[in-house]
Amino acid sequence: MMRKWIAYLFAAFIVLGFGLTGWENVSAASASNVNQEINELKKKQDNLHDKKSNLKNKKENTEAKIAENKDKQVTVNSAINKIDQDLTETRNAIKSKENEIAETNRQLNTLKKQIDNINNKIDKLKKDIKKLKERIEKREELLKDRLRAIQSNGGSMKYIEVIMGSNSFSDFISRSSAVSTIMEQDKNIMETHAKEKKQLEDKQAEVEEKKKEIEDKKTKIENKKASLESKKQELESLQEQLDKQMNKKEEKLGELKKEQNQLENYKMSLAEQQQVVKNQEAAVNKAIRMAKQRKEELNQLGNEANGSGSFAWPASGYITDYYGSRGGTHPGIDLGNATAKGGGNVPIKAAADGVVTRAYTSSSYGNVVFITHVIDGDKYETVYAHMKYPPMVRDMQVVKKGQQIGVMGSTGDSTGPHLHFEVHQPKWTYSKQYSTNPLSYLP
Ligand SMILES: [Zn+2]
Repeated sequence: MMRKWIAYLFAAFIVLGFGLTGWENVSAASASNVNQEINELKKKQDNLHDKKSNLKNKKENTEAKIAENKDKQVTVNSAINKIDQDLTETRNAIKSKENEIAETNRQLNTLKKQIDNINNKIDKLKKDIKKLKERIEKREELLKDRLRAIQSNGGSMKYIEVIMGSNSFSDFISRSSAVSTIMEQDKNIMETHAKEKKQLEDKQAEVEEKKKEIEDKKTKIENKKASLESKKQELESLQEQLDKQMNKKEEKLGELKKEQNQLENYKMSLAEQQQVVKNQEAAVNKAIRMAKQRKEELNQLGNEANGSGSFAWPASGYITDYYGSRGGTHPGIDLGNATAKGGGNVPIKAAADGVVTRAYTSSSYGNVVFITHVIDGDKYETVYAHMKYPPMVRDMQVVKKGQQIGVMGSTGDSTGPHLHFEVHQPKWTYSKQYSTNPLSYLP
């Protein structure tokens, strides 16, 4: 409705403002205006279309980047998983080495205890051996003393006296053999001591041999422990490397996630821009449709206003005053009617096909209607004044010849009910310079 109104106003503006003659001209001028508008809108449409495909490209580009980013994330993630596995394996290996080292420590402790035991044994054996040695030495000393006593004929214990004190040879033999028996006993004791000493020394040698074996074993285990510890150190440095790699990969993953976030945000802003462009496009499309419709309506309006034929009487009744009366100041004719005078309603009708250019209430005209007509290419404007009620038509309304537009009355500057009717060619002005005698046109 509004659109139509604007179209009419537009048309009326051209007609009234520029005083063009002929609806073809009006239509042509308006149509060319509307065509120009349509062309401009189509340019806008093209621009928006370019923007749209540009945004689409950008969006596709961004989507490709997001896909690439996600691929990279997958790669980095699988690398992280691999490093994680390696780290777990390395930690387990370190733990296992630590267990083995603990085991070697236990073994070493046991061996140390064994060695301590053996050392104690050896000490004890050495002490025993020393004691025996001392005893043997003492015994030897004793024996030597006795032998010396025998040889030097002196001393307190003298074998020779024992032997010389014998009463007879048999006694002497007996005494000698007694001496030799004593000596034999000493000798036996010494031999026993020597034997025991030898046994102890053998034992010591055996124990020392065993100690050597245990010490060899200990050395082996210590070597093993050292090798385990160096292995563990290798693993720990491997773990350190893996940790570094892991940090790098996680840093990389963080960067990729950040980038992805930025890309997603950008994509979202593109989608928003797309929506804006889409809305603008819809608005432009609608504006083009409206302009086309307006063009159509302009054409139609031209046809409608471009009515054929002639004027008809605007009301029934009789002429009460002529054009040019009152010293040439009366710009129209007055029509009276008995019914109207009696208070009845006498219809006022459009004198020809046309468009209402003004319908309002004026202090002088009262309730008044202005209608613009184009008849055989000529333009006219008719005026219907002093109507009883506010006009039955509105501005820009298309009216047909004979269509009722109001009721005869006496509003405004009037002394009794009548229709004051004016005809202007081509249009009404304040000075009414284009007024003509209506009777020239009325049948
Ligand atoms: Zn009059």
